[in-house]
Parts: sequence; C-alpha cells; structure tokens
Amino acid sequence: MSLLVVGSVAFDQIETPFGKTGKIIGGAGSYISLAAAHFSDDVALISVVGEDFPKSFLDRLNTEGVNTKGVEVVKGRKSFFWSGKYHNDMNTRDTLVTELNVLGDFNPVVPKEFRSPDFLMLGNLSPQVQMEVISQIEKRPKLVVLDTMNFWMDMAWDELIAVIRKVDVVTINDEEARQLSGEYSLVKAAQKILDLGPKYLVIKKGEHGALLFNRAKEVFFAPALPLEEVFDPTGAGDSFAGGFLGYLSATRDVSFRNMKRAIIFGSAMASFTVEKFGLERLENLTSNEMDERVQEFIDLVQFDIALV
Ligand code: AMP
Repeated sequence: MSLLVVGSVAFDQIETPFGKTGKIIGGAGSYISLAAAHFSDDVALISVVGEDFPKSFLDRLNTEGVNTKGVEVVKGRKSFFWSGKYHNDMNTRDTLVTELNVLGDFNPVVPKEFRSPDFLMLGNLSPQVQMEVISQIEKRPKLVVLDTMNFWMDMAWDELIAVIRKVDVVTINDEEARQLSGEYSLVKAAQKILDLGPKYLVIKKGEHGALLFNRAKEVFFAPALPLEEVFDPTGAGDSFAGGFLGYLSATRDVSFRNMKRAIIFGSAMASFTVEKFGLERLENLTSNEMDERVQEFIDLVQFDIALV
C-alpha cells in the first residue's frame, strides 16, 4: 500500500458571492484522495458515511483509483454535513452548520491489507481518531502528514499535541500556526511547532501561497497562482495536501528538495479546486492541464539576476 488517507467524506452546502449549492459531495478525505489519485494508482481511503450517501460517489472514487474498502457505511444513520458561507474576500468564511452524524462516534478500522502504508495522510479529524489510525499501523511509514484546524486546538488541545508529536509533517494555515505556537511571527511559530516533534511544517496562506519549513531553518515559499476568479475555496487545503503527498508517494523521495516540488504540485492542485464548486474541477482534471498549470507556476517565479 502506497498512500493511506483518513478523512471526512461528507455532504457540503456552500454559499459564495457567486452562488449557492444544494447538498453536494465534499469532505476532506474526498478532496485529498481524489487529488492524490491524480499521481498515484495506489491510494486507499479510511472514512465513514451514512446510509444516505450515494454509492455512485464511492464507485467514482474507485474508478479514479481510490480504494474505498476502508469507507464504512453505517446503516440507519446520516452522513457528516457541513455548510459554510464565504465572505466577499473569499479568504474568510463562516461555518453555518456542522452536523457530525456518523463522524461523531467514528471508530476507524484500518483493513489488514492497509496497515503498512509507505505514506500516511491524517486529514482534518479529531486528534483521537488520528491517533487511533496511527495505533493500527504496523510498520513506520516513510512519511506521516497531519492536517488540523483551530477547532481541535479549542476542543482537544492535549490530544492534538500528543498526535503532532508522532508525525513528520504538519500542514495548517497561518492563523492556526499562530494559535498553536502563541507566536505572531510565522518563522518563530514554525520553530516552536517543529520543536514539538515534526520534521517539516507547511503553513498555508490561502491566496498568498504556502511556506515549507524544516528543522535546519530552511524555508521554501510557493505562491498561489493569481487566478482571475476564485469560485469556491472549499477543499483548497485538502487538495493541496493530496497533491503534495500524491506527488511524494509517486516519486518515493522525501528529501527537502523533492518536498519543494511537491509543494508546487499541491499548490497547482489547489488552484484547480477553487475554480468550480465542490469536487467538480478535480473530477475532470487531465494530466495535460496539470502539466500546463505547473509550467505556469514555474513561469510565475522564474527570474534571472546576475549577482556581481
Ligand atoms: P477546507 O476548505 O480545506 O477546510 O475543507 C473543507 C472540507 O472539510 C469540507 O468538504 C467539509 O466537509 C470538511 N470539514 C469541515 N469541517 C470538518 C470537521 N470538523 N471535521 C471533518 N471534516 C470537516
């Protein structure tokens, strides 16, 4: 097993200045696994849905190369539902509804054949669930990546710190990095978070790109592609993580040098996601489009300076 992903598979309802959706399919696990499957044909997803969830979406994930044997379907229960409304700047949003439903008592079970993944992605879920998945892993993966959010810092601080100590890479946004470290400077925040245990930290800054830090105090910055229209930012961070880890698992190289490339592939994946509502853009993404987009990133930051 190359890449094991744990994350929510959900119904979302999204409102942006451009319009409003009905119930559409979302969830961090959906975005991560679809993005990762673009690079790797050996991706498996651990999640839980209710009886109300369309089987056709799980079939669709299978077609895209995501193994859904670890997605539990609970009879007589409803799927996780999340609803959010974006402000005019499209960078900030209010959560309108969070109905945990089956996610509220999710007890993840990693099928036997997925217990020695080379790469493990712990999507944004309760730290207890993330820890439970780690405890079922039989061989230390090459890389364990954890995504989290302010909600868990408020609700389960000690459990979150305990799971952060066990992973190699943490991905969070700038405000969350400040909350987690108590430092305003992102450079100081990064060092404090790395002192907890992880070897690398990715700080996502939305339309302002992403920063990658390591313990040797090296820093890499990737811009976000300046897009004419951001339609729906939901899942951008998850698509970023899926692209990042999908690329690393396909190349099997976890050096800092290769992580810089992975950050660009993650950023490219996020730039696609925000172009349409929900998962629509990720589901129809071709390799050619991906190559062209990565070239745009290269062109965006390449310049020649001769230092004398
Ligand atoms: P992002 O825009 O990257 O924060 O991810 C949005 C996705 O995360 C949506 O598709 C939601 O279904 C999912 N989501 C929102 N809140 C939670 C939560 N508390 N636990 C798990 N998944 C969530």
